[in-house]
Amino acid sequence: MLGTLRRIVQEVSTAPDLPSALAITVNRIRDAMGVAACTVYLADEDNREYVLMATAGLNPQAVGRVRLNARQGLIGLVAERREPLNLEDAPLHPRFYPVCEVCEDDYHAFLGVPLIQYRRVLGVLTVQHPTIRQFESNEVDFLVTIAAQLASTLNHAILSGTTQELLNPLVVGTRALQGVPGAPGVVIGTVAIPHLLAELEDVPDRPTTEPAAEEARFRTAVAQVEQELRAASDRLAPLLPPTEQALFTVYRMILSSDSLIGETLAGIRAGCWAPAAWRDAVMSRIRLLEQAEDPYLSTRAEDLRDLGRRVLNHLRAVPTTPPSDSPPRRCVLVAEEMSVAHLAAVPPEQLAAIVCLRGSALSHVALLARAMGIPAVMGLGDRPLGRFEGCEIIVDGYHGRVYVNPDPALRAEYRQLIAADAELSAELEALREQPAETRDGYRIPLYAKAGLLTDIAAARACGAEGIGLYRTEFAFMVRESFPGEEEQCQIYRRMLEAFAPEPVVMRTLDIGGDKTLPYFTIEENNPFLGWRGMRFTLDHPDIFLTQLRAMLRANAGLGNLRILFPMITTVEEVDEALRLLKHAYLELEEDGWPAARPQVGVMIEIPSAAWQAGQLASRVDFLSVGTNDLTQYLLAVDRDNARVARLYDHLHPAMLKTIAHIIESGHLTGRPVNLCGEMAADPGAAVLMLGMGIDSLSASTVSVPRVKWAVRSFTYAEARELARQALELDTVWQVRRLINETLRRVGLGEIVHDLD
Ligand code: PEP
Ligand code: MG
Repeated sequence: MLGTLRRIVQEVSTAPDLPSALAITVNRIRDAMGVAACTVYLADEDNREYVLMATAGLNPQAVGRVRLNARQGLIGLVAERREPLNLEDAPLHPRFYPVCEVCEDDYHAFLGVPLIQYRRVLGVLTVQHPTIRQFESNEVDFLVTIAAQLASTLNHAILSGTTQELLNPLVVGTRALQGVPGAPGVVIGTVAIPHLLAELEDVPDRPTTEPAAEEARFRTAVAQVEQELRAASDRLAPLLPPTEQALFTVYRMILSSDSLIGETLAGIRAGCWAPAAWRDAVMSRIRLLEQAEDPYLSTRAEDLRDLGRRVLNHLRAVPTTPPSDSPPRRCVLVAEEMSVAHLAAVPPEQLAAIVCLRGSALSHVALLARAMGIPAVMGLGDRPLGRFEGCEIIVDGYHGRVYVNPDPALRAEYRQLIAADAELSAELEALREQPAETRDGYRIPLYAKAGLLTDIAAARACGAEGIGLYRTEFAFMVRESFPGEEEQCQIYRRMLEAFAPEPVVMRTLDIGGDKTLPYFTIEENNPFLGWRGMRFTLDHPDIFLTQLRAMLRANAGLGNLRILFPMITTVEEVDEALRLLKHAYLELEEDGWPAARPQVGVMIEIPSAAWQAGQLASRVDFLSVGTNDLTQYLLAVDRDNARVARLYDHLHPAMLKTIAHIIESGHLTGRPVNLCGEMAADPGAAVLMLGMGIDSLSASTVSVPRVKWAVRSFTYAEARELARQALELDTVWQVRRLINETLRRVGLGEIVHDLD
């Protein structure tokens, strides 16, 4: 069964559209289970009905026409009970509802399983047979397993509006693809897909107007792979047994296959760019091999896939003919995962928004988008990326939604929203020179966050009083090797100069987790629990000392540098980091560059550090609460995993209590406590933190004006009362409701959160 299951899933996942995917599913299930009929009903939630969408065995004319009321029949019952229904003689069941169009009178055995994704019933999958019999438990298991796979495919189709178009053909382009909010703002732009082309299925469809150039590009890539294989086989010949060596021969044979190459060239000549023509030729063969239930042939399919990737890799390296690669004017980058290098490849004035299939609000690419002031939507889930290329797209970063090919009414609605947003931003512009001060005169320093030197302008323009978190790793991520001391020194100097005498808190290198360096890959099963931040730098004192020296030198004559240590788990780590800092400082003195000792802080972003905040604080000058990671580690919710994104919330009561403890511990030791996670960018949460006694806030530049607006709308007493009440609540929902009510009361209804 497992092999059959894998093949069906594989075939369904490569189906060109939803109707074909459903047709494949029902036909394959019917054959595999040896039943007379297999049928899929999809939920039409708008009409509270189940619509027969595909069948193998029932009347094909019924497809799209038979609609069952959600309370009617066995289909409604399966959906209602959310569990399989296995009946030996369905017509005898009291809920049996005969539908004349489907002609199922001759069927007795009935097995129906719900299609559920994220707790939502998307439809029902059934099999039926004329004999009177119960289905065996292994048959039930099989159908349940297929249903789980199908539900995930369907979920994407539903979110992309595909099922809606099938169910209600008149509704087009108004269905949102739901992800999670990554960075605020709304934009209408054109999709561009940075083609890393790692997987064949990811290759977007693109036309070519220069088939001759594409053909040459393709031939070059093939020749390069051939040469690569020859070199590898020569190199490995003495080391590999003959059976393994034969693999290279197989690869070379496949590559020289006239039909494979010929089919690709035909695709190119028909106007398709080389990667997609190659993808089609390779994928059609892979599918054939995978369908044959032969382990030898499935291995060949794997070989072919590997070879396919190799050629793609080389195609990526050989430039395409413009203009297909030049980004559109209002470019919305859409990718499965995005690296800093992807963003850097688009001129900043053209980059309008980003959309990622993976990741969540706290992925570093989302943070970067915030720093750049562009909207981002994360965690859209698996999508056929190729189909988006060149489409018009609305990106709603406030609600984490995108609309592909929106209809005119929706576009007009969003244009209004964009205008209203711009108006509010213009109004807030008036607050630029004003401090973040409550109505009764309590002032809280409001800093911005930065990652790249290009952020300086936005950070200065947003009216922040300095930089509360400069993520130095971003400068490392856009390079091809570790930057040296001199290069780093220049970067840090520009940052410090731009804000002097206001403080710039420079965090030492915080790589690991989802922040990887292209030139230093770290392979780990649980990267967020692994070699991150300080753990990495303490193990690499060479890299750490170079960075510290560069920072200290950059600070000469300015004195606004503050150094922050990330991912601290133990007091020993702080002691060791301070020892190395002292070492760097003494070394510089010896080298004739005497440096002033900057203030030093520790990030509190791990529960162990939170509960030792007092001991940590007593060793340094300030604490900075990193709520992004603290939420992740306290709630055990991967900040980068869209599946559990709904559990990730910095307003969790446990977070509030932990932060209250950190603030109290810092203050007992006489040290100020800053908050530099994204929580500081959430205006309501920022006021709550103010009420809890936080000493300064560091928000993304795009959020600084709104946070300031919120702070200036409250009295300190109101903020304290909000904190008092919030700390007594049991659930995130209650905390949000309280914050929303409080925001509304002071006239800030425009920035309240959805409470779904
Ligand atoms: C945090 O964890 O809150 C933080 C500010 O650091 P980063 O998001 O860069 O991990
Ligand atoms: Mg962190």
